Amino acid sequence: MQIEELDRAYLFHPMTNLAAHEQNGPPLTIVEGHGATVTDSNGRDYLDAMAGLWCVNVGYSHPEMADALHAQASKLPYFHAFSSMGTELPALLSERLIRMAPVPMSKVFFGNSGSDANDTQAKLVWYYNNVLGRPEKKKIISRRRGYHGVTVLSGGLTGLKNLHDGFDLPLPMIRHVRPPHRLWERAPGQSDEEFSTALAAELETLILDEGPETVAAMIAEPVMAAGGVIVPPDTYFPKIQEVLDRYDVLLIADEVVNGFGRLGVPFGSDAVGMRPDLMTVAKGITSAYVPLSAVLVSEKVWQVLLEGSAKYGSFGHGYTYSAHPLAAAAAMANLDIIERDGLIAQVAENGAYLHELLRAEFGDHPNVGEIRGKGLMAALEFVESREPLRPFAAQGAFATAVTLHSREAGVITRALPEADTVSFSPPFVTTRDELERMVVGVRAGLDRAV
Ligand code: PLP
Repeated sequence: MQIEELDRAYLFHPMTNLAAHEQNGPPLTIVEGHGATVTDSNGRDYLDAMAGLWCVNVGYSHPEMADALHAQASKLPYFHAFSSMGTELPALLSERLIRMAPVPMSKVFFGNSGSDANDTQAKLVWYYNNVLGRPEKKKIISRRRGYHGVTVLSGGLTGLKNLHDGFDLPLPMIRHVRPPHRLWERAPGQSDEEFSTALAAELETLILDEGPETVAAMIAEPVMAAGGVIVPPDTYFPKIQEVLDRYDVLLIADEVVNGFGRLGVPFGSDAVGMRPDLMTVAKGITSAYVPLSAVLVSEKVWQVLLEGSAKYGSFGHGYTYSAHPLAAAAAMANLDIIERDGLIAQVAENGAYLHELLRAEFGDHPNVGEIRGKGLMAALEFVESREPLRPFAAQGAFATAVTLHSREAGVITRALPEADTVSFSPPFVTTRDELERMVVGVRAGLDRAV
């Protein structure tokens, strides 16, 4: 059997229309990648405007990443970190993360994915309130369109209906509020300041309605990624933070996409003025060469966890692959490359260039309702009409068509769920010439979709 037939017969694809896949087979099998280019099984090259899933930040097949992984796999491929045992690199990496963190943090807990890290966050928050003698304080607030994973808990934190339907999610302790999405959520004539004030007031009303003694935490991406690349107004998070502080509600920053330079600054929290008590990172920590996530814990939370461990005994949470040495080797090499090659400054410069290109190419297009983003993270949201503002009736179909046609033009982009939005999140090493070609490819895709 050909690979394509085996794939269709046996592989259960994530985030895929299962019936369509069985009928049409795998539309694309990637066999190789270098820099910002991937090659399919027919030998055709594509520019990957999404760095995989917002993650291959240092680009594909970086020789130093391969060397670091080879060296670690040849010396010690695995040892666990349970019961005070461990290996060298996770210790070095945790110190490095604490040094890099945008706000003071004390400890690092390693996992394997953004989803499991956000489940860890919920468990930490619940444990924290149990230790403090507040067993009712367990609800977690998230935002519609936020993406926080797909596990039983994190899938509910994610504010996308498509990830809930059929799965009995979200779990009952989760609440969602409106996102700071100007295009659809801001009232006509409302300023950014007024919009932020209104969203903070809604959060406060929710907390009061639920009872502050029942609300434990809020989770938020600084700049939303999969929900549509939504950059909040400058005053949004400071106003949200005030409300959370008033009711002793912890803030969890989900930096899975934003972290390690995607926005042209080290972390999203820096960019939007968040002061999280807990932080989640994944993806860009290893540029996805090896799965790795981490939860960063502030001293305020850590002191309570310590107390809890005295009360409950050994901290009953951890994965076989927590603090995996191969993943830590990938992270150390990845962070070395980003630092040494000045890639975060490059993201800021090339990000500004990408936004210029997008404005020039799509600014006047009658079906482009909004162009937004920051650093090397951008989105085009399509509408049926700009004046009056009206979305397409079949939500998502237009963006999907643009994506498929862009691929025919040699550019991989991504249609985001529950919105007519295509996104850009290219590798940090993408050249200006490649950025230009990505924009040209998506323009060709749009012209074919219209
Ligand atoms: N958080 C954010 C902001 C994400 O974008 C994602 C994945 O896209 C996750 C969490 C979940 O990460 P994973 O797919 O590694 O479980």
